[in-house]
Amino acid sequence: MAKIYYNDDADLSIIQNRSVAVIGYGSQGHAHALNLRDSGVDVRIGLNEGSTSRAKAEAQGLRVLSIADAAKEADVIMILTPDQVQAQVFNESIKDNLEEGDAIFFAHGFNIRFGYIEAPEGVDVAMVAPKGPGHTVRREFEAGRGVPDLVAVEVDASGQALQLALSYAKGIGGTRAGVIETTFTEETESDLFGEQAVLCGGMSHLVQYGFEVLTEAGYQPEIAYFEVLHELKLIVDLMVEGGIAKQRWSISDTAEYGDYVSGPRVIDPSVKERMQDVLKDIQDGVFADRFMKDQASGGKEFAELRAKEEKHPIETTGRKLRSLFAWEQTDEDYTEGTAA
Ligand code: NAD
Ligand code: MG
Ligand code: MG
Ligand code: MG
Ligand code: MG
Ligand code: MG
Repeated sequence: MAKIYYNDDADLSIIQNRSVAVIGYGSQGHAHALNLRDSGVDVRIGLNEGSTSRAKAEAQGLRVLSIADAAKEADVIMILTPDQVQAQVFNESIKDNLEEGDAIFFAHGFNIRFGYIEAPEGVDVAMVAPKGPGHTVRREFEAGRGVPDLVAVEVDASGQALQLALSYAKGIGGTRAGVIETTFTEETESDLFGEQAVLCGGMSHLVQYGFEVLTEAGYQPEIAYFEVLHELKLIVDLMVEGGIAKQRWSISDTAEYGDYVSGPRVIDPSVKERMQDVLKDIQDGVFADRFMKDQASGGKEFAELRAKEEKHPIETTGRKLRSLFAWEQTDEDYTEGTAA
């Protein structure tokens, strides 16, 4: 069983006695910075000169410096720019501002696991990775709760890196929910696999094929959209609440029987074999290399793939249907608190 740390296992004063730089102010960046600040931690933001996030961070009362100055001032540097620019940001603005005893932190192990970033001697390398989008990390913290985190230590130069990471996790609210210890390798490979094979890649393409099969057989696109996309959320909510078993308990017997007899016809053992191929490409660095090479030449393949996928007919149907819901929700006759 994985070891889980809670509030009592972490000492907030450790991170309160350090100075933290959060590099980047996007989804994760804003949540880490604001939660740490509200936990009494000395935090500054590092951003590029022209960054559009600068005004936002300043409006929220945070001090914004250049990335180099933030890294120089701080002794814990959390790197929260997009993964594909972290190595460049690190080499240009962070590396030369690190001293022995400093720590560099990540919320995903990609650049360390695949060797795009190499830390200088004497610097702790650790991870605090919330298992949720940044906006949820902030919202839960403000509500007095937290989003679970993963922590990992790649280099323990100080001998205190795990306690430092746990303290940081406490500062962003993670130990309120539970913090699981992992390694950079396990977090990176399982995260990439989960999003590619199941959560994002697997799910998106399953839904698209379901929509195509129904509409090509003459069913109305609006009906197909409800059956293969809209209802997904209800099913996923049940799975998260009580596993696949609760989801199967809640659906009709007809649906449950259909799951058992038709599910394995669609998702057969060949799917598992191809998932294993995907995992191998992740482990061997083949996926990382393809992603980073495309990014280095301007992200041409990425842009082409995005443009192609956006044209799938399910998107047109979905936009139309969702705008109907939005119209219902903004009904002028309805004022909150006055209904019924
Ligand atoms: P993001 O895309 O939301 O934000 C990145 C921020 O970095 C931008 O807002 C900007 O301030 C800055 N930035 C962008 N390009 C830059 C550049 N070229 N140079 C310098 N700064 C630049 O990023 P994110 O989704 O918060 O991801 C940050 C890290 O957190 C990644 O390692 C990611 O894997 C990890 N992570 C993200 C989530 C999530 O919910 N999005 C969840 C867990 C872990
Ligand atoms: Mg420093
Ligand atoms: Mg990921
Ligand atoms: Mg993930
Ligand atoms: Mg149905
Ligand atoms: Mg049932």
